[in-house]
Amino acid sequence: MINKNLILIAFSTLISCKNGNEVSDFVVQKNQDSYQYYNSLFEKNPDCITFSFDYPVGKSNAKGYYNAQKFGKNNHLGDDWNGIGDRNTDLGDAVYTIGNGYVSFARDMKGGWGNVIRIIHQYKGKYYESVYAHCDTILVKEGDFVKKGTLIATIGTANGIYLAHLHLEIRDNIFMDIGSGYAKDKSGYLDPTEFIKNN
Ligand SMILES: [Zn+2]
Repeated sequence: MINKNLILIAFSTLISCKNGNEVSDFVVQKNQDSYQYYNSLFEKNPDCITFSFDYPVGKSNAKGYYNAQKFGKNNHLGDDWNGIGDRNTDLGDAVYTIGNGYVSFARDMKGGWGNVIRIIHQYKGKYYESVYAHCDTILVKEGDFVKKGTLIATIGTANGIYLAHLHLEIRDNIFMDIGSGYAKDKSGYLDPTEFIKNN
C-alpha cells in the first residue's frame, strides 16, 4: 500500500534538493516574510544582484593562497584559505566579497567562530549566502550593499584560537543558523571552490 504522506515527503524532498532557493511562488509562500524581505531589498538595489563569483583572497583568483582544508574533508562545511607562507604570514591580509550582495550579519561571535560576516547574494533568480569567519577585522557593517571584490575584512585567528586563515562557506539555504563548521549532513551547503569555479 502506498502511503500518501510518504509521497508528500518525497515530493518536498525533491523540491528542497534543488540547487539554490528559487525565487518562486512556492518558496515565497513557504518562507513568506524572509523571501519577501530580500526580494524587495534587491528590487530596490538591483546593482547588488550578482552575475558571477570570485575567490575571497588573492583578488580575484586566490593567487598566493591555497585551500588548506577542502569542503568535505573531515566533514568540513567550507574551505580554509591559507597564505602560501603558512603560519601567520597571512594575518591581516585582505578578504573580498565573492559577489555583489547584502551584508546580513557582521559581528564577533566569539568562541571558535570569531568575527563573522554573512552576505546574501541574489544570482540567476536564486539566493545564496557566503560566510567569512575567524576574521581579524570587520570592514563592513550589517545593512551594507557590497560589490564583488569589495574589501570586507582581514584574515584572522578567531581571537588567537587558530593559525590565521579564512573559513569560507557558501550555502544555498540562506535561512540556516551559523552552525558548527563541520557536519556529516551537508544539506544547505555547497563546495565553495566548485561553486566559484562554475559561476
Ligand atoms: Zn574551516
